[in-house]
Amino acid sequence: MKPQYKRKQYWNEPEMTVWERSYLPEIVRGLIVTSIVFLRNMGRWMTGRKGALTTYYPEETRFDYAPLNRGKHILTQRPDGSPQCIACNMCATVCPAKVIEIEAGFDESDSAHPKFPIRFEIDYSRCVFCGLCVEACPEDAIRMVKETPGLPSDSRGQMWLTLEEMLTWQPASDVAKPYPAKAAAAGGAPAQKGHAP
Ligand code: SF4
Ligand code: SF4
Repeated sequence: MKPQYKRKQYWNEPEMTVWERSYLPEIVRGLIVTSIVFLRNMGRWMTGRKGALTTYYPEETRFDYAPLNRGKHILTQRPDGSPQCIACNMCATVCPAKVIEIEAGFDESDSAHPKFPIRFEIDYSRCVFCGLCVEACPEDAIRMVKETPGLPSDSRGQMWLTLEEMLTWQPASDVAKPYPAKAAAAGGAPAQKGHAP
């Protein structure tokens, strides 16, 4: 006869004391804790101080987002201020929600980067913030920064993140490339390229 396979147990059996098994005392204790927290927050609110750790979004934004939080999308720029994006469409192809729309332009005079995005938009009403677009990009052109996008809107048509908004990312420094980009301020030709029709 084959020995019976004994499954390994990956969980702990709950161990309750007699006090916890009697149920009602723990219910009363829970109500007391809840009431204390409620009354303390109510007292703070009535005296003009902030009580519970509630963020009144969008007027307030949380200060404690993790540095690697996948929030708002941005497009990186070359040192001359032009978009790093080469309009290859890989991010749009890999996007599981199909929310990235890119229209490519072609600049014959720029042999190094002839393709560039004329229109680059993300529909935030359907984006699932998976980050696959960032993973797929061969140029480190699209990233997600920890800040959250201004999502609330009463119209889905206004929940599109545009090329212009994504190009406003100007960190003080960046480990991957020189920042801030210069030519946007200088008005050089490459910086204008991404916005040309
Ligand atoms: S985060 Fe995911 S769903 Fe959103 S645009 Fe990128 S690939 Fe698409
Ligand atoms: S962001 Fe990256 S993957 Fe998307 S079109 Fe531009 S270069 Fe290609």
